[in-house]
Amino acid sequence: MISLNETHDPSLSSWVNSANGGQSDFPIQNLPFAIFRRRDSGDDWRGGVAIGDQIVDMMAAVHAGIFSGAALAPAQAAADSTLNRLMSMGPQSLSSLRKALVKALQTDSAQRTTLESCLLAQADAEYAVPARIGDYTDFYTSIYHATNAGKLFRPDNPLLPNYKWVPIGYHGRASSVIVSGQDFHRPCGQIKTPDDGAPVVQPCTRLDMELELGVFVGQANALGEPIGIGDAEDHVFGLALFNDWSARDIQSWEYQPLGPFLGKNFASSISPWVVTMEALAPFRVPFTRAANDPQPLPYLTSESNSAAGGLDIQIEALIETSGMRRAQTSPARVALTNYRHAYWSVAQMVAHHTVNGCNLQPGDLLGTGTLSGPTPDSAGALIELTEGGKNPIELPNGERRAWLQDGDAITLRGWCERAGAVRIGFGECRATVLPAR
Ligand code: MN
Repeated sequence: MISLNETHDPSLSSWVNSANGGQSDFPIQNLPFAIFRRRDSGDDWRGGVAIGDQIVDMMAAVHAGIFSGAALAPAQAAADSTLNRLMSMGPQSLSSLRKALVKALQTDSAQRTTLESCLLAQADAEYAVPARIGDYTDFYTSIYHATNAGKLFRPDNPLLPNYKWVPIGYHGRASSVIVSGQDFHRPCGQIKTPDDGAPVVQPCTRLDMELELGVFVGQANALGEPIGIGDAEDHVFGLALFNDWSARDIQSWEYQPLGPFLGKNFASSISPWVVTMEALAPFRVPFTRAANDPQPLPYLTSESNSAAGGLDIQIEALIETSGMRRAQTSPARVALTNYRHAYWSVAQMVAHHTVNGCNLQPGDLLGTGTLSGPTPDSAGALIELTEGGKNPIELPNGERRAWLQDGDAITLRGWCERAGAVRIGFGECRATVLPAR
């Protein structure tokens, strides 16, 4: 696990003024990575680093000679058209690059004049999915979500007996992971209501969001070689916001006995910015179990996971209906939760995924599963917030929603803050529901 160093110093500030003052998601203590280009330019995609409301164009910065020594190779990799090669290099290379970026971006840096010409305003950029995602696995790490959702599918048996022993997951589909800002069409599929004798193919009427974090895998492990929990975070590059759109009516008919399929793989949105594990170091929290719950098996237990395996990340979901857009009213919050409530940690997800020798590869994506917290307003999906659609939520403009309607946009935001550290954020993950085709 990465410890605090000079790059986390709360007194650091940047010559990019918008990064300072505690309001930006992207102060000099954050420095997340994305794949971007100038909007509508048709230029080649390249890697960038967020600072305030600007992007450091890594290709330009490398050509300008900003990087040397141990930072040069990771800086060159960060200029690629995907982040995979940077992800493969591991935490020490990434840490060298972070130190060099802080040196170049901090107030009074001798490299200011050179680097100034390598900036692009985020307002003028468009983004791609940050990595070529080879495989995507979605976990189920919130016991609150597992219990609430389980109640709706199996009222008599909400939490299955394996839940407190196994970090439950399934293999999802990588090809339909889309970047924030890309909209998607309401899916069609086989739907059978309890009253109908046979299913029909029609547009989904129970469209839902899932407020999640996406974990990007860094260094690979060889096939057949499990990653021990003590090394697990050395194989993690960083975290992004993730909305795993779900068609509950398709899901409820198809999910037995092999689990989620077409109710899930029509679209999943990821934020463009990936926040590194090093940037998250000030926001670690203990990872504990209730005394009357089974303690995790030894391969899922380590001292450092217990001491600091959790992450204090606030995440909210906002809805903007087409009515709100027309009236130019602000989006309404539908959920606010915290990643610290998860029942399984990032390290446990990695250790469990590889305990059988399964090989993870740079750029693989692990979803945390819906991150519902312990209170009703911290549920991360409409299926919980509306009790399966029975109790629609009231929006401030008088509209009601049991499920998402065409034109609704959902935005996820995430941030970390605590006394003695500079607040960092994840930017946003947003998409709008378009009508079924
Ligand atoms: Mn999910």
